[in-house]
Amino acid sequence: MIRIKKLSKKKRPNSFLILFLIVIGATWFLANSNEILNPPIEVSISEFQEDVRSGDVYEDQITVYENRIQYAVSENERRYAYKENTALVSDILDKEALEGLNVLVSPPNDFWRIVLEMAVPLIFGIFLLMFFLSRIQGANNKAISFGNSKARVHDKTKDKTTFKDVAGALEAKEELEEVVDFLKSPKKYQKMGAKIPKGVLLVGPPGTGKTLLARAVAGEANVPFFSISGSEFVEMFVGVGASRVRDLFKKAKRNAPCIVFVDEIDAVGRKRGAGLGGGHDEREQTLNQILTEMDGFEQGSNVIVMAATNRPDVLDPALLRPGRFDRQVTVDKPGIDDREAILKVHADNKPLAKSVDLRTVAKQTPGMTGADLENIMNEAAIYSAKRDRKSITQKALESSVEKVALGPERKSKVMTEKEKKITAYHEVGHALVGHLLSECDPVHKVSVVSRGMALGVTWSLPQDDLNMYSRTKFEHKLSSLLAGYVAEEVFFGETSTGPSNDLERATSIAKRMVTEFGMSELGPVTFGEKKHEVFLGKDMAHTKNYSEAMAEKIDFLVNEILNKAYLRAKKIVTEYKDLMVEISEDLLKKEDLSRSEFLEYFEKAGVEAPLPN
Ligand code: ADP
Ligand code: MG
Ligand code: ZN
Repeated sequence: MIRIKKLSKKKRPNSFLILFLIVIGATWFLANSNEILNPPIEVSISEFQEDVRSGDVYEDQITVYENRIQYAVSENERRYAYKENTALVSDILDKEALEGLNVLVSPPNDFWRIVLEMAVPLIFGIFLLMFFLSRIQGANNKAISFGNSKARVHDKTKDKTTFKDVAGALEAKEELEEVVDFLKSPKKYQKMGAKIPKGVLLVGPPGTGKTLLARAVAGEANVPFFSISGSEFVEMFVGVGASRVRDLFKKAKRNAPCIVFVDEIDAVGRKRGAGLGGGHDEREQTLNQILTEMDGFEQGSNVIVMAATNRPDVLDPALLRPGRFDRQVTVDKPGIDDREAILKVHADNKPLAKSVDLRTVAKQTPGMTGADLENIMNEAAIYSAKRDRKSITQKALESSVEKVALGPERKSKVMTEKEKKITAYHEVGHALVGHLLSECDPVHKVSVVSRGMALGVTWSLPQDDLNMYSRTKFEHKLSSLLAGYVAEEVFFGETSTGPSNDLERATSIAKRMVTEFGMSELGPVTFGEKKHEVFLGKDMAHTKNYSEAMAEKIDFLVNEILNKAYLRAKKIVTEYKDLMVEISEDLLKKEDLSRSEFLEYFEKAGVEAPLPN
């Protein structure tokens, strides 16, 4: 696993020593436990005489240390008495009593006994004190050393990540294969006069395996891996980030060939001079330091800097210049084959039932990333373990797909009968219109069990991983989005707050159709700058690059698109009113309708889908 490398030179007292001390302490305690738990009681000489006379002395044994007479009356009850210095035991006890007794006269000043009794607890105490002191000091050291990098070093001997652990992502792996080769045999490239790349930037949405890939490169090349996250640089003191970078690179150079990995570099590498408050902030200094260090590498230093980001558009162009992160590797969301492969990787250590078909799971998870898929496998394992199953079944997988895609069910959420009814009609509205329009994604499930913030859900899944949307597809999607609103209106005479999120999404789609995609009468133009702004500041100062008159036109067209979609939905809902009622009432009773259950209603009613346009 990942080992956190200690930065302070001071060694912690090693655990063996601590264990040793504990054992000594415990032994001493056990050996003396009788004495500690049952300390002897002092009695007078006459009481001692009485004990002897009545034959109460345990095992007839008395011990004499100088003027102290020690004996026991039972196994656990010991007593002692003081005699006068000059008196002998024979003076105190009469002959008769003395005869039956064992008298042991212990030599005065039992040196070793005293040493042991005194020294062992003392030494133990001192070591304990030292142990705690060193811990406190350790904490102090940490406070002092925060200018050092917190870089984690991946132990290359243990638990190595390789390309095998990264499913799919073929192109990314192919490109990185080259980097691995550089690291493995730099001489080969140097002889050829080739410049070894200094920086590789991994670009892709969160959870697609960028960090995993970087680690796999180190694993494949069998070199140390120094990783640090951009967000860690954001500290309270200016200058700390820069000094950390310096420290990190110093360490890396000492360990070359190796990989320095800056995760989430956008946290420090954003375009400079775009901030609100002054240019010279912490982030900028850190970024400058990274650039300086990268430029400072001589050829042949064999340190490759890898970085990952999901926002390449916000990165400072200086980072992307040749000689810096001049190689970019794109890591995309996985397609269906890759999803299946990723699921397989994460199913490796899990007992799957024979009936499990990961392809089906891959089909149900378009748009999900590697991290989501890992999460699904894990949720399924938890689900099965909780129910004491021997293996993970398809059902467990499907329920965890739902959990990850839609959020966990909240059966305890209290809804009134009326709310539940409205929710049912609302969801069936989405589902029915979605089903009957040709360009909408197939309905996978309709449910009135609340999840997260939603009271109900209509879950539709695209058949393929799409990269493009047509105008018709947008229009149909808008209709099914508005169908919840329409259903409430048609069946209850008024609408609720339920559709607010639907309306928001619909409006935003319609607006983008007009202003970004040229899908309106205004034709092939875009309006407004793309929202790729760097800091909050620039977002606030968002510039409008069109006139007020044009703004009015845009608003009008957005409205028109929405209205058309609304009317289309209303026409369908009204036309299939009876079917709507039938499905909604059943949904109220069953709470969930699967795709096949949903399709049955249409078959029974003889309704062909999709409707002709
Ligand atoms: P990123 O850095 O891109 O946000 P990570 O590398 O942290 O994503 O990925 C998160 C987790 O998702 C990984 O630990 C891994 O278990 C899983 N994962 C992502 N992509 C893949 C993949 N292609 N193959 C196997 N597992 C993956
Ligand atoms: Mg990451
Ligand atoms: Zn809705």
